[in-house]
Amino acid sequence: MMRVPDIIRKKRDGLELSPDEIKYFISGYTSGDIPDYQASALLMAVFLRGMTDRETVCLTEAIRDSGTKPDFSGIKGIRVDKHSTGGVGDKTSLIVGPIVAACGMTVAKISGRGLGHTGGTVDKLEAIPGYRTALSGEEFSEIVNRTGIAIVGQSSEIAPADKKLYALRDVTSTVESLPLIASSIMGKKLAAGDDVILLDVKTGSGSFLKSVDNATALARVMVNIGKAAGKKTAALITDMDSPLGNEIGNANEVREAVGVLKGKGPDDLTYLCRMLSSGILSLAGCGSDEKCLSMVDSVLYGGKAFEKLIDMVEAQGGDPGYIEDPSRLGRARFTAEFTAERDGYISGVNAEGYGKASLLLGAGREKLTDAIDPLAGISLIRKRGDRVSRGEPVAVLMTDDKSRIPAAVGELSRSTFYSDEAPSVPPMILGKVD
Ligand code: URA
Repeated sequence: MMRVPDIIRKKRDGLELSPDEIKYFISGYTSGDIPDYQASALLMAVFLRGMTDRETVCLTEAIRDSGTKPDFSGIKGIRVDKHSTGGVGDKTSLIVGPIVAACGMTVAKISGRGLGHTGGTVDKLEAIPGYRTALSGEEFSEIVNRTGIAIVGQSSEIAPADKKLYALRDVTSTVESLPLIASSIMGKKLAAGDDVILLDVKTGSGSFLKSVDNATALARVMVNIGKAAGKKTAALITDMDSPLGNEIGNANEVREAVGVLKGKGPDDLTYLCRMLSSGILSLAGCGSDEKCLSMVDSVLYGGKAFEKLIDMVEAQGGDPGYIEDPSRLGRARFTAEFTAERDGYISGVNAEGYGKASLLLGAGREKLTDAIDPLAGISLIRKRGDRVSRGEPVAVLMTDDKSRIPAAVGELSRSTFYSDEAPSVPPMILGKVD
């Protein structure tokens, strides 16, 4: 007979858990028999002690198998997905999903909520009034077959163990762990039954595993898990040393994603979305890199990808009027400016600090039960590499709770660095694992 305190102690002491212990924990936690306090202790032990590759694979499989496994065999077409390891201002799923669906791929995507200092696709989509991120397996399949795309959160049917563990990690400072990230992402992807998986593994100050070496190690573990499961899997290692695009916060990011799909997005975000989309098409066997990129550009700049987003929002219960005119998403009641503290260039930022500032304004959770403010966030006016004069606005902070502003301004101030010379800006794509 297994006892949870013994499993926690074993991991606390740095020993390898057996497959049966991992399965016992995941099934007990999913069913509610194991309480959050024991799960929190085990997560912290894993965070501090790590896991062997064998344990990580086993945890991934237990997460994959934790749901009732809806029958997705009726979903037609090549099922592709892109999943990011998490970053600040990372709204690429809202853009890449519609692009590749408009290119004829099938996108049946399971996303997550905000995690640690990063935002999550599910919270962003819920900033669109009416949008339902919880669908039954049957409804999900029906929408995917009708529109070519649906994006939902984990559910009791699909990766429920990740739904619970993910939310618990968010509020127990146990996010930045290679085995926990790898099993969370790949458990969901395998539960959804994707054929092609492109991982966007972030590195830099706004990512969870900040060094290129650690990001590459994470990419290798996930690519190996995907390949062992018979999926076409690859990873791009991409820069997250500065927020992606100019908007942070849920409604802000939806607005910016719509801008990209209308051909009016910021360069860094547009470029990364084009590369991720063409990377998916090429992994799916659609032809040469040039051909895939031209397919992407044709639906992006010809308006088809934007129409796909409208179709998806409408099919999932959202009001497409908010996508046609995203200014209708609204503005927070209070705004404040963060201004440059000296003349010069912005030599770099601590992107994690920018993410935390957005959480402090109300865009994230501190406890499992917290509600988030969809309108809270930050619009960046100046970014890494830009020239600034003292007193000039660098960012606009938005919140419905005025008392939150000073702490967020303090966080931005500590997270913004200046130089006299123009800094060099790294390339967006830093490596590939396939
Ligand atoms: N995305 C996920 O789905 N899980 C993580 O742990 C990190 C990013």
